[in-house]
Amino acid sequence: MSKRHRIDVGDSVSKRSSTKQNCFDLQSPYLFVREEDRDKRHDKDNNIEKSRIPSSASLAMAQHAAVAATFPKTSTINPFTGMPYTPRYHTLLSKRINLPVWEYKEKFIDTMNKNQTLVLVGETGSGKTTQIPQWCLEWVRARYAKKGVACTQPRRVAAMSVAARVAEEMDVGLGQEVGYSIRFEDCTSSKTILKYMTDGMLLREAMSDPLLENYGVVMLDEAHERTLATDILMGLLKEVAKQRPDLKIIVMSATLDAGKFQTYFDNAPLMTVPGRTHPVEIFYTPEPERDYMEAAIRTVLQIHMCEEGEGDVLLFLTGQEREVESLGPDVGELKCIPLYSTLPPNLQQRIFEPPPPKRTNGAIGRKVVVSTNIAETSLTIDGVVFVIDPGFAKQKVYNPRIRVESLLVTAISKASSQQRAGRAGPPETLMRALELLNYLAAIDDDGELTELGSMMAEFPLDPQLAKMVIASCDYNCSNEILSVTAMLSGNNESCDPSLW
Ligand code: ADP
Ligand code: MG
Repeated sequence: MSKRHRIDVGDSVSKRSSTKQNCFDLQSPYLFVREEDRDKRHDKDNNIEKSRIPSSASLAMAQHAAVAATFPKTSTINPFTGMPYTPRYHTLLSKRINLPVWEYKEKFIDTMNKNQTLVLVGETGSGKTTQIPQWCLEWVRARYAKKGVACTQPRRVAAMSVAARVAEEMDVGLGQEVGYSIRFEDCTSSKTILKYMTDGMLLREAMSDPLLENYGVVMLDEAHERTLATDILMGLLKEVAKQRPDLKIIVMSATLDAGKFQTYFDNAPLMTVPGRTHPVEIFYTPEPERDYMEAAIRTVLQIHMCEEGEGDVLLFLTGQEREVESLGPDVGELKCIPLYSTLPPNLQQRIFEPPPPKRTNGAIGRKVVVSTNIAETSLTIDGVVFVIDPGFAKQKVYNPRIRVESLLVTAISKASSQQRAGRAGPPETLMRALELLNYLAAIDDDGELTELGSMMAEFPLDPQLAKMVIASCDYNCSNEILSVTAMLSGNNESCDPSLW
């Protein structure tokens, strides 16, 4: 078997940099560069990309001119709080207006004025999630005094951290004008006009407010990371849009495969925001690693000790990580920061901390973010230059035959996912689901929703748990059941985006 074939099941390390060849591919027996990738990159750099890219100076000038044209005249008073803006607001603003999306503000607003639905694709980190909802808010507030903006996220972590960031950018308290709503936690108030929420929560709101009258703009972010709730929401929004011509729907995604969204929303226009692309070099292990955890940690240390430039490391693992002992005074400090969905928000925020400073002898300090797949697209961590991907993830796998759902560490390769998909059998899953709802008396023999079923639907819980909570009233044990239920559904370390 050739090396090229073996790499498909091996580990990979990608590096966001165009620097010289380093100690990895030259000396390390651990990694090598796939020639095919190197050639492709070379061709791309020389023939296609460079001819189109203006020099950085002219790009920066064009960008500033565009920003100057679109950015509203800054007042010193925050219209939301009536207070003068803090220095932090201005610091963040200067960073914000240099994000790639800002160049497109005018075009975005114009397209939004002319269309009810808009699909927007932009690279991770370009400013979609943090900036565009703020423009939409501006748009809505100029037209409707009582409507706001909803922006859905496939993951709870993203909803919480993005809301915190945007509240800071708008210089308002989190939970005031900007808030978030996730299962079991509602950080909003009567003042909230920009709400980040999981798609499951918006769906839940739609149960009591079917036309989503509270919102002038509904944004579906990371639409490519579709969950069951996202799909239902899209169907629902399509219907709501017919009855509410004043409602705008923005579908945002990090991938280029937006054609299907456009088709679904009656050929909605597509806007593409090019990000600041960084050339990425991909290195693969020559052999599959027996202990991928050990190999991943070894790679982190190799990067830390051999790489001359600054830059943090992002390591994808399936669960929690190990500590790195001190490496001695000659090597810079290495700060490990875990990131997983059930980590408390204040600890999640640590991923944005700066790396440890250089030692007096010049040894570079680095931050290593050890993350489950939540860092794939939902969160952008500045300063990350090295990404280590052992190619495994914990996935929620449902076996309809034994009706058990479990979290398995699985390879993320195409082949295995196809194999697994084949084993699960979608018609069998659906049949079992209907059967379960029927056993629980949520639907009758004709498949119609029963009164109990509609009551169960009100609970943000799996059907079994919802039925248990309702039944607990008959047995006088509601309190006990509620606390067990919250524990069961809240403290579930999972990479499953459907956990809202
Ligand atoms: P996108 O949605 O296009 O991936 P975002 O709007 O999430 O991009 O982020 C845009 C930029 O804002 C990031 O590149 C990063 O610089 C900054 N940013 C976003 N969230 C945070 C945060 N919580 N802390 C610090 N910086 C952040
Ligand atoms: Mg985003």
